[in-house]
Amino acid sequence: MNYITNANLKEADNEVFAIIEDELKRQTNHLEMIASENFTSPAVMEAMGSVFTNKYAEGYPYKRYYGGCEQADKVEQLAIDRACQIFGCKFANVQPHSGSQANGAVYAALLKAGDKILGMDLSHGGHLTHGSKPSFSGQNYSAFYYGVELDGRINYDKVEEIAKLVQPKIIVCGASAYAREIDFKRFRQIADSVGAILFADIAHIAGLVAAGEHQSPFPHAHIVTTTTHKTLRGPRGGMIMTNDEDIAKKINSAIFPGLQGGPLVHVIAAKAVAFKEILDPKWKDYAKQVKANARVLGEVLIKRGYDIVSGGTDNHLVLVSFLNKPFSGKDADAALGDAGITVNKNTVPGETRSPFITSGIRVGSPALTARGMKEKEFEIIANKICDVLDNIEDKELHKKINKEMEELASNFVIYSKSTY
Ligand SMILES: *Cc1c(COP(=O)(O)O)cnc(C)c1O
Repeated sequence: MNYITNANLKEADNEVFAIIEDELKRQTNHLEMIASENFTSPAVMEAMGSVFTNKYAEGYPYKRYYGGCEQADKVEQLAIDRACQIFGCKFANVQPHSGSQANGAVYAALLKAGDKILGMDLSHGGHLTHGSKPSFSGQNYSAFYYGVELDGRINYDKVEEIAKLVQPKIIVCGASAYAREIDFKRFRQIADSVGAILFADIAHIAGLVAAGEHQSPFPHAHIVTTTTHKTLRGPRGGMIMTNDEDIAKKINSAIFPGLQGGPLVHVIAAKAVAFKEILDPKWKDYAKQVKANARVLGEVLIKRGYDIVSGGTDNHLVLVSFLNKPFSGKDADAALGDAGITVNKNTVPGETRSPFITSGIRVGSPALTARGMKEKEFEIIANKICDVLDNIEDKELHKKINKEMEELASNFVIYSKSTY
């Protein structure tokens, strides 16, 4: 008899099993509108839960430091090839454990401590890893920022002025809370004008880029990172891409042995599965629907008297501003949560409240679109969001809407098997 308990999770550990069941219920009964979240397929989760979790595969395909990597080689190479096919690039590193790890590797590969980077201000929609002070990127490097204008848009001429003053080694473009198309071509002109490397972080919009529903960072950016779990709908993880062989070599060394040890081969297998879904012609429909749904969301909110930063959206999210309202992003986040609608509070341009309180919320369409919801449902939900915000103190109403939203959600099955 071996030492491995062959019981399934329910039999082996009912406590964890019950918690997962409750999480499945939460994901099923609520309306998930956090712009960075999505639902991955059972096939992706099956690969992620596979025996590859047992395997050490330090190194890269066909160049490993461990024996027994024949299958790990095949699956990682498949993930790399599919990634390159999706994004039309020559090199991909699929090992980063997360988007932040991917970004850390970019800086480690191309900068020395103290070198200058220019990224988007966190409070204007950038990411922590774009030079924010609490992040390694703001601590190890000398970080400067550009932001958005009061109209909520990047002013590229201003970015160019800042770049000329700062003379950064890397310019970071890409954002976590920016509803407008990012002009990678213009960013490259700016980078070229100061001899900087252009680094595009497409963590939020990668799924749209993959479908041709957002301008591609290639061939403009020298280096591109993404997460795989946001609009790409894959497993939680990161990825780095480039067309430059010299940069690719430096990136590979920065990830391993620079920052990480053994790759998560089970997650890499799951990335490969997700990439196959993205290569299917149906992906374009999904991406188009994500954008159409976000557009309806913005239109209804505007019609009902709410300010949308930049006046609308080109992508999968809207940023709602409460600068002119008596309540905060935190209040709105809590009230919508009570109504069964999950969003996150977010700072807005011209912010007057603290980052913990904020004057906005970020609302996204990728997850509900994955469930099959279309314009019709988004119109209903957007109106319910406005009902909650119009009556932010009315707890009874929030409860009532919660019931209605649960019923709406029940018509859009996520996973047909009962346990994951
Ligand atoms: C989400 C995000 C990341 C980080 O991803 P994690 O996997 O959470 O580390 C990096 N950059 C941008 C722009 C993001 O939105």
